[in-house]
Amino acid sequence: MMAKKSILVVEDEDDIRELLRYNLAKEGYQVTGSASGEEALKAVRVSLPDLVLLDLMLPGMDGLEVCRSLKQDPLTRNLPIVMLTAKGEEADIVSGLELGADDYITKPFSVRVLLARLRAVLRRRSAAPLLETAPITIHELEIHPGRHEVLVQGHSVDLTATEFSLLNLLARRPGWVFTRSQIVNEIHGDDYSVTERAVDVQMVSLRKKLGPCGKYLETVRGIGYRFKD
Ligand code: CA
Repeated sequence: MMAKKSILVVEDEDDIRELLRYNLAKEGYQVTGSASGEEALKAVRVSLPDLVLLDLMLPGMDGLEVCRSLKQDPLTRNLPIVMLTAKGEEADIVSGLELGADDYITKPFSVRVLLARLRAVLRRRSAAPLLETAPITIHELEIHPGRHEVLVQGHSVDLTATEFSLLNLLARRPGWVFTRSQIVNEIHGDDYSVTERAVDVQMVSLRKKLGPCGKYLETVRGIGYRFKD
């Protein structure tokens, strides 16, 4: 039998924290709760959880500061963080993702969706890291980094080096949201320096070239892009 995964819920609103605790426990997780950022930082040092579900709006130390602090400490740097956010907090979501948070869920959330997202983060974390050069097949797309080739439903499509890097980056981590600045940092354009605005332009062209598979490249409004899981 697998050991129960543990989740620390950081949320100052008691009813939401209890709702989360109840549903996560029912799903088989071992759950602890903290009502403030300061309390959460102490709690992870007492017992390191497998994942932190972190509300961004906290009294005192806010969620972004908690995230930054966890990512700066070698002990907790690799701890997966899923942010709980409110509508209209896109700027904070972008900051959190750039600090290293794994995902975010916007309130009000459906418990079913929340559980699926947490499972996905835990699954990605326990999966062996994909070799960047290994070919992958996802939906009706095949990507062969060694040959720099992409097949859509078995037919080869002609991509520029930058478009190829963009697709390879996103498709290797389906479901992950990448901010524009993360994309700029990850892909180095061969022909010219890639800017955040250029990412949008490349994305339009890439979608067009991928034809029926273009729809898997999703725009996440105000945040960035992700490849459909
Ligand atoms: Ca709150």
